[in-house]
Amino acid sequence: MAQLGRHQGHTQVIVTDSRPTPYGRQSISQEDVEAVAQQLVSDWLTTGPSVESFEQDLGDVTGGHPVVAVSSGTAALHCAYAALSLNEGDEIITSPITFISTAATAIKEGARVIFADVDELTGNLDAQSAQDAISPRTRAIVAIDFAGNPADYRELQKVASDARIPLIADASHSLGASLDSRPVGDWADMTTLSFFPTKNIATGEGGAVVCKNREYLERVQGFRSHGLVRLPEKQELKGEGPWHQEVQEFGLNYRLTDIQAALGRSQLERLQHFLQRRQEIVDRYNAVFASNPSLRLPGVTPGAKPAWHLYPLRVPSDKRLRLYEELRKHSVLAQVNYLPVYWHPVFQKMGYPRGLCPNAEASYKGEISLPLYVDLKDGEVDRIAQIVLEALR
Ligand SMILES: *Cc1c(COP(=O)(O)O)cnc(C)c1O
Repeated sequence: MAQLGRHQGHTQVIVTDSRPTPYGRQSISQEDVEAVAQQLVSDWLTTGPSVESFEQDLGDVTGGHPVVAVSSGTAALHCAYAALSLNEGDEIITSPITFISTAATAIKEGARVIFADVDELTGNLDAQSAQDAISPRTRAIVAIDFAGNPADYRELQKVASDARIPLIADASHSLGASLDSRPVGDWADMTTLSFFPTKNIATGEGGAVVCKNREYLERVQGFRSHGLVRLPEKQELKGEGPWHQEVQEFGLNYRLTDIQAALGRSQLERLQHFLQRRQEIVDRYNAVFASNPSLRLPGVTPGAKPAWHLYPLRVPSDKRLRLYEELRKHSVLAQVNYLPVYWHPVFQKMGYPRGLCPNAEASYKGEISLPLYVDLKDGEVDRIAQIVLEALR
């Protein structure tokens, strides 16, 4: 059961039943409900003026660059790789501590994925490891802002520009974060976002690509919508008539709908509140766990202001399963982020050996993500923290 109630100055949809506490979930206000309802009775359901406004609003918080909204974070990554025009045998370098789609979409575009190891403290792609993985076939370095903490873009940008290859940021976790006061979106050549319900804002399914250069922007826009070329001056077939649109390169249908964009715009209005509440919860967990020497708190890149999507606690690996089960017994559904991507059978069958990235494998073995979402109450945070301490005793 869900009902409406007041919370933090917003009318909030309050969940009143006793479902288990998930690791993440959306926060929906009455304003969100009204924004979607209004969109439903407007002229536009699919990609229209609300998508355009959403793209502008996203640009305002990602460095002022053009943004292309798409149907998921996975679609965003696929569009970014398509913009690079990858050929068979081209390589991209990325971190194994990510969701499968960072690698899967590159492979679908014909690339070979080279995994470089992560920084021990943050779980983000390590610049030196990325540098060591560069070959004449490298076409991009792809960083992930694990848990919402920005990768060290100062270092990564240096490595990428020295090698004259683009830097892509999979910022699915980190919308609203910054490094040296520059927002995520302002660092990499292309930055991808996800609006899956557990992420920092929700549109149901949804994503976006922030493009710092015009060529990538046009290619992402084309790929999002079948590769259709509508501008007469860009068309190859001349004289077909004013109705004519043509395809010069294949694309897909990765469009976001105006219904989703209406929700996204409404959510974005509360982004600062969302991030503040997420930071409060992280601080609250940290305060309890800091004095326990067997625990490691989430790492922060020097100079970064994270936008916490996850609370990734590091525990002794021989105790993680017991802790997970103990939490479950108390109706707390923790999560583990992530199985090193090359451990998935699909990569094992391609011959990727275990042991490739020791830091990544060690981080996986001790990682557990505790519940973190805007509507999580302080009392529930305290209850979860106590269960953790009890289970590790
Ligand atoms: C969520 C996520 C994605 C995929 O986003 P979807 O919107 O679920 O398709 C890609 N990369 C990372 C790191 C993610 O967390």
